[in-house]
Amino acid sequence: MEITFVGAAREVTGSCHLLHVNGKTVALDCGMFQGRRSESAEKNKALPVPIAELDAVVLSHAHIDHSGRLPFLVAQGYSRTIWATAATRDLSAVMLADSAHIQEKDAEFLARKKKLFVEPLYGMRHATRTMELMVGVPYNKPFDIVPGVQGTYVDAGHILGSASVILDCTEGSVTRRLIFSGDVGRSGLSIIRDPVPPTGADAVIVESTYGNRDHESVDGARARLAEVIRATAARGGRVLIPAFAVGRTQELIYSLHSLVKEGVIPSIPIYVDSPLAIDATTVFQMHPETFDQSEDLVRRVKELFDFPLVRFTRDVEESKAISMAKGPMVIIAASGMVEAGRILHHLAQGASDPRNTILIVGFQAEHTLGRRIVEKTPMLKVFGEEVPLRAQVEVINGYSAHADRNELTAWLDAVKAESPRLGPVWLVHGEPEVQDTYRTTLVAKGYSVSCPEPYARVSF
Ligand SMILES: [Zn+2]
Ligand SMILES: [Zn+2]
Repeated sequence: MEITFVGAAREVTGSCHLLHVNGKTVALDCGMFQGRRSESAEKNKALPVPIAELDAVVLSHAHIDHSGRLPFLVAQGYSRTIWATAATRDLSAVMLADSAHIQEKDAEFLARKKKLFVEPLYGMRHATRTMELMVGVPYNKPFDIVPGVQGTYVDAGHILGSASVILDCTEGSVTRRLIFSGDVGRSGLSIIRDPVPPTGADAVIVESTYGNRDHESVDGARARLAEVIRATAARGGRVLIPAFAVGRTQELIYSLHSLVKEGVIPSIPIYVDSPLAIDATTVFQMHPETFDQSEDLVRRVKELFDFPLVRFTRDVEESKAISMAKGPMVIIAASGMVEAGRILHHLAQGASDPRNTILIVGFQAEHTLGRRIVEKTPMLKVFGEEVPLRAQVEVINGYSAHADRNELTAWLDAVKAESPRLGPVWLVHGEPEVQDTYRTTLVAKGYSVSCPEPYARVSF
């Protein structure tokens, strides 16, 4: 039994690992690489394995860095099953359609620039076909992936529908249990449930995004959010929040709702300027069974994302009208790493105004515009134009949907405590320096850890 680490190996994006058992190959995720444009474009075009050799795909959750290349597999001829949880399936339907739209627009833009035909990575029909292949299964219920590999999803507590995957692999008389963590969430996020560490593992593939840092608490994040909004509104500025349309945006709306209820932020309009976030919010409303029922507002699901100050803008004209409007306001728009989406035109308008605040609430990968904002690069490039960065930049990492160092270690410790045969632990989904630091921490605790390079092949 072997694993080939294809993507999210020594980096955060492009999650994809191949499991080889009994002569069959199963892909765990097939996500998009993000970051430096030309570099990631090349990586995104490389098939992880010849299509004829790929027998099944198991998806951990709907984020594009895990799911975004599924329609590319389909465009290249893949026509077998893609497994997912039921909520991941519904979220993927809106996210992959959005991604296809972005791919088509990108290709059009490049074609205009280069004055020659550019084939998009995939189109809408491939996203639609992908959804036909995707089978939704419940948590905690085993499903047969290929002969000799049985899967079971458990809650990863990261975004709606997110899962860690238990893979029971049998070759001849040998059975091994491989755990793929997916993205591990946090305890205490308001809408979704806490992560459930799997047990009985022989080997673990675990993410390590924040293996070198601790987050502030979710309550601390909420208090800082209120502070940033009050200060910005007092200057007459706007708070621009680039956020993942799925997960982060709903957590933010939830926090803002409770802050408005408590009367601790001024009554200024809150725009959720993202059709994708609107669709994703609808999917959230379809899956109350995955919510954390211990939360006060969650018990009243109907009003969870809906209160007098919040406005959801779907069409482009409305979105443009917001950038022209005067006065303080909060604008939440995708994309989370500021690589695409409507947040770009809000930044083109607003980044140079010192009254405004750009509030970063999520992980920003290397070489993304979001990362350059965090690093306070004086001149930003938006739509090919130079825009001076004069707005305040604030970072709140308490909204992260990823476990921090302590939470990750607690997750692993819980796995280990119930896994007497635990062998190798492979770190994925992390930047090299972070992984190296975290590896040292884990080795000191007695784990056998390595950080595989892209295309490294290991047996277990
Ligand atoms: Zn994720
Ligand atoms: Zn991820």
